[in-house]
Amino acid sequence: ILVAEDGLVNQKLVRELLQKQGHRVTIVGNGKDAVDRCSSDPPDIVLMDIQMPVMDGLEATKQIRIHEASSGGHVPIVAMTAHAMKGDRERCLSVGMDRYVSKPLRAHELFDAMAAALGHAVAGTRVDTDVASEENQQPQLEDRVEWHIALEAVNGDADTLKAVLDAHLEETPRLLNEMHGAIAAGDGELLQRAAHTLKSQLRLFGAMAACELAWQLEQAGGSQQFSDAPSKLEELERRVKPFNDALAESPIPGA
Ligand code: MN
Repeated sequence: ILVAEDGLVNQKLVRELLQKQGHRVTIVGNGKDAVDRCSSDPPDIVLMDIQMPVMDGLEATKQIRIHEASSGGHVPIVAMTAHAMKGDRERCLSVGMDRYVSKPLRAHELFDAMAAALGHAVAGTRVDTDVASEENQQPQLEDRVEWHIALEAVNGDADTLKAVLDAHLEETPRLLNEMHGAIAAGDGELLQRAAHTLKSQLRLFGAMAACELAWQLEQAGGSQQFSDAPSKLEELERRVKPFNDALAESPIPGA
């Protein structure tokens, strides 16, 4: 399984989930490397993030499909996207992706999408859930450690969650620094990408108010509007620090 994903936390999450089911996983951090890998050593299936540096997932998929038009074959591609925008699913499918899962990733949705893209079942445990789908959730503007959301994403596996949590705690200061640098340099693309990555991590653990701020910073980066960005980033940091402290201190249920 080839995984193209630039976020360290999602890389870790996907790797752990797939390897626990006995899959062999190769991870690349951008679309260009995914295109190269697909022509040199084609995988059985590709899990493709959308927002990535160097080359995004949409462009990479287009190039893979162009290459296949002359070389033959069709590698199944599953899009992994955190975009909430309408039409995002259509864009993924229009460039030649076969299926689509939204972030934060939930193990059973990922395995279902892989099975559908492959046309047969894959190793992966199906778990039932009563959590409403993301579309139906109203943003709750509170930062509260929600182990059940995070545990669901890892199929209830506390060891995997511990690894993902450690990566989140390690990545947070780096991403915040990157956002500071991006604002100082007026680099909207970098701000957008760093905020986007932190947003997905925060949502995974239930920091919804902080997640909302990260989303606003992502939008600010995308539209190159930096006027409110420093104060938003300051507030984001004010929220994230105690939240991450709480995450680090509270025991993972079942661990
Ligand atoms: Mn990404």
